[in-house]
Amino acid sequence: MIIYNGPSLLDGKPIVVIATKKSGNAKTGDMVQTYILCRDIDPRDANKRGDDYSICGNCKHRGTATDDPTRKLAKNRSCYVNIGQGVLIVWKAFQRGAYDAITGHDNIAAIGAGRMVRLGTYGDPSAVPAWIWESLLSQADGWTGYSHQADVAGADYRPDMVMRSADTEQEARDAWQNGERTFRVVANVSDIIAGREILCPASKEAGQRVQCHDCKLCAGSSIAAKSIAIPAHGAGATHFTA
Ligand code: SF4
Repeated sequence: MIIYNGPSLLDGKPIVVIATKKSGNAKTGDMVQTYILCRDIDPRDANKRGDDYSICGNCKHRGTATDDPTRKLAKNRSCYVNIGQGVLIVWKAFQRGAYDAITGHDNIAAIGAGRMVRLGTYGDPSAVPAWIWESLLSQADGWTGYSHQADVAGADYRPDMVMRSADTEQEARDAWQNGERTFRVVANVSDIIAGREILCPASKEAGQRVQCHDCKLCAGSSIAAKSIAIPAHGAGATHFTA
């Protein structure tokens, strides 16, 4: 279902949010997934050319834009999301008209009712007006969400709702001073700061002993818990630099 179709809060260009009710994602478990996509641009091209600013803002894991005809994606992209799989399937389905547009608080709330919700399966929730998420989460069992847009003008950044994605230890320490919780990708388990961060229990290093569906820890400062760290993983792990 299309739960938002309008301008990005980051650059005003057209974006959409597609919510899908079924998910076989091994790490998250069965959660409502939300894809934040450039409305009119193939997500691979958007990333390659840097047009994904509309949905990812200045997240450094987008990589470096390029017009190299031999490449499908930006150079050195370190994002864990594989654009060529679920993201592309959802965008193509949207282009075919496969999704209904859902509007109004009650209708959006019904999608998340009684479910765990993942804010930004791809894309940054802060690119979208937060009232969309407030409606979606209003009757949900819980949620996870992450944002790189803490300092970006126009972003509807809600640390009470999402984890601040921290790229450095200093950034994490600054966020903690503000009462924010962070999600930090680290090179090694030994980089985790004892007393402030814990290892994501869904990580390979933690034995993948739980899924987000049951863990529920990544819900920003709405939960009083330590921040989270995870060693680099997923599609872009080989381009991760500490
Ligand atoms: S800490 Fe919990 S909610 Fe956050 S990513 Fe890991 S398993 Fe998912």
